[in-house]
Amino acid sequence: MEFQPSGIDCLPMRIIALFNQKGGVGKTTSAVNLGAALADEKRRVVLIDMDPQGNLSFHLGLEPGKIHHSSYQVLTQGISLKEALHPIGEFLSVVPATSDLAGAEVELVDQPQRELRLRDALQRDPIDADFIIIDCPPSLGLLTLNSLCLADEVIIPLQAHFLALQGMARLLETCSLVRQRLNRKLKISAILFCQYEAAPRLTGEVTEEVEKFIEAARGTNQPWSDARVLQTRIRRNIKLAEAPSFSQSILLYAPNSAGAADYSVLAQEILEMK
Ligand code: ADP
Ligand code: MG
Repeated sequence: MEFQPSGIDCLPMRIIALFNQKGGVGKTTSAVNLGAALADEKRRVVLIDMDPQGNLSFHLGLEPGKIHHSSYQVLTQGISLKEALHPIGEFLSVVPATSDLAGAEVELVDQPQRELRLRDALQRDPIDADFIIIDCPPSLGLLTLNSLCLADEVIIPLQAHFLALQGMARLLETCSLVRQRLNRKLKISAILFCQYEAAPRLTGEVTEEVEKFIEAARGTNQPWSDARVLQTRIRRNIKLAEAPSFSQSILLYAPNSAGAADYSVLAQEILEMK
């Protein structure tokens, strides 16, 4: 598929991984709806589904019968990302996932540089886009490593409840190791609170704890030393949970909902980030 020129001054492409090994935090919902909101702003967006559950692909109406090439073939058969693009709208396209992606880890076990398959696939055959957004699986295995080796930026979706920070140490350690050994560019650019409820006191405590943690790393060489807690909070909104069943982003399914408003504001904040 060929993209139309976006008409926007040529900025370098941003490659963002939505990463948290915990399931159910809002990675897929944010990949789809942030992607759709950026595409609404006429940015050319490619979403890559790296979760064998294929939730992102399903959310945008790409069921197995409609998928010609997937991220599985990119990883295991040397297909380029460009060849696996499925157009969703004028500015949005998807590299979908199918369930066979679950086997990629085992199939690649004795392959050299197996963490770099995704990156190689882009370098061999570059894509002309403003954003690539990668929906990571809820694990720390090879699929996540491939995602983190392609990305320049990680955004961590978090839910502000008392287990939110559980697992954070391993998440951060994974990013540190990838940065040291595989991808010097990698940085954690932001924390995004999802399914946010303003009322409970706990929300404030978790938010404060995250902010303190980031402040403590300023000026260090940690990948999160420049991270920010995004001002935009994605509120809990039932329309966001309904949209996948209608194969639509929140902007199409419920344009007047709180969910659509939050992801549109988030897109602006992401565009303003340096
Ligand atoms: P992950 O990809 O991290 O596993 P999902 O994005 O799939 O998480 O979200 C988990 C579930 O929560 C899904 O059913 C999704 O529809 C729902 N969900 C995500 N964000 C919200 C929100 N802000 N409000 C209501 N439901 C949400
Ligand atoms: Mg998901």
